[in-house]
Amino acid sequence: MKIYSIGGYSEVGKNMTVVEIGDDAFIFDMGLYLPPIVEMEEREKTSSKMLGSVGAVPDDYGIEKIRSKVRAIFISHAHLDHVGAVPYLAYKYNAGVFGTPYTIEILRGLAEDLIKEDKDKFNNRLVAVMPNSSYEIKGKQTNYKVEFIHITHSTIQSSIIALHTPEGIIVYANDYKIDNYPVLGLKPNYKALEKIGKEGVKLLIMESLYADEEKKTFSETVARHMVRDVMLGLDKKAVIVTTFSSHIARLKSIVDFGKEMGREVLFFGRSLKRYVSAANEVGLCPFYKDIKILSFKDQMERYFKRVEKDKNKYLVVCTGHQGEPGSVLDRLSKGEFSFKIDKDDNIIFSTRVIPTPINQANRAMLDKRLIKRKARIISDVHVSGHAAREDMRDFMRIIDPAYILPSHAGLQKRSALAELASEEGYKIGNEALLVEDGSVIEI
Ligand SMILES: [Zn+2]
Repeated sequence: MKIYSIGGYSEVGKNMTVVEIGDDAFIFDMGLYLPPIVEMEEREKTSSKMLGSVGAVPDDYGIEKIRSKVRAIFISHAHLDHVGAVPYLAYKYNAGVFGTPYTIEILRGLAEDLIKEDKDKFNNRLVAVMPNSSYEIKGKQTNYKVEFIHITHSTIQSSIIALHTPEGIIVYANDYKIDNYPVLGLKPNYKALEKIGKEGVKLLIMESLYADEEKKTFSETVARHMVRDVMLGLDKKAVIVTTFSSHIARLKSIVDFGKEMGREVLFFGRSLKRYVSAANEVGLCPFYKDIKILSFKDQMERYFKRVEKDKNKYLVVCTGHQGEPGSVLDRLSKGEFSFKIDKDDNIIFSTRVIPTPINQANRAMLDKRLIKRKARIISDVHVSGHAAREDMRDFMRIIDPAYILPSHAGLQKRSALAELASEEGYKIGNEALLVEDGSVIEI
């Protein structure tokens, strides 16, 4: 088989890997590279031309010759660096797009936002596959079984994808954490992972984001305790919380403790509306009836007037955790709404700054404006959704692959994962493979 590392091997994001076996080929993820489009977050519409011009869409030129062999596009989960490029790229392939119901629901929402020119092109069949179930894909000579194995991560219905081929199983693990105490949803499906490990995995494609951190990533339950500790210790001033819009479990904790504080919970911002509404569509938003979601300008303004009058009656949950220009928190910090942040109002960041220069700069400017308003900032009320080094070791042992391909980071972090693999008996260069974007390897 041949492996094409299209995107996510020279940067964090833009994930796309292609596996070619005989007459058939399969795509794993089609993600966006987010840093250049942070500024577009709250914008109404973006075009494929615009995204292409800033290098946000994976460059699939390397698989031009095998385009007609592509039988399916598998999407691991609903984060934009995994699913976000589908509406701009999938039309080139005569293949269905497969993901869990939540991922497909998010994809449908993204497709609705396309400009007409892009919308007309994007006609791929969208197939929702339930977590912990499988699907049969027709190849030219043989059929392939693909399994969507449930795994924990910072959004719901994330999957480890296992493709059964005549040459062995290919496992795609991008992204995941090993969480035995998730706040929402099930534990990782160890039984299914152990089963494929025993059946014989040829290749494990594995995220390497925190391979250099000598840790085990704490459970989301730990984050829930952090949120509780911070929120229930606050006094009567305004409380504003911001987190990843797709992190439904974290949002659940925030809503739960908002209610415990006796406050009415208001969600502000378009991306919150997108992810929370989609979760509700697939029956996975237990707090939907407890909140109001506001996304239109005049609607937001109407409610911010109420918040301004009665600051201690409401909990404001809003977009802008990375300081994105145009986000609700960004605009609040600039005084663009009727609700004015002032002395001793509390701003909780249930997130960490994603370490790219543009995010760091945006967040620093946001903090500066908030401090000028004499607000109290509580940062890093957060636990990661990604496995750390010792989780990765456990995972590697369960899957027990013949080859490991570290992905989803630049060389430094991928090397850290390759070193971990070498501790586990894999030879770097032979069985633990390091490649940049645009490479082809044969195994
Ligand atoms: Zn992710």
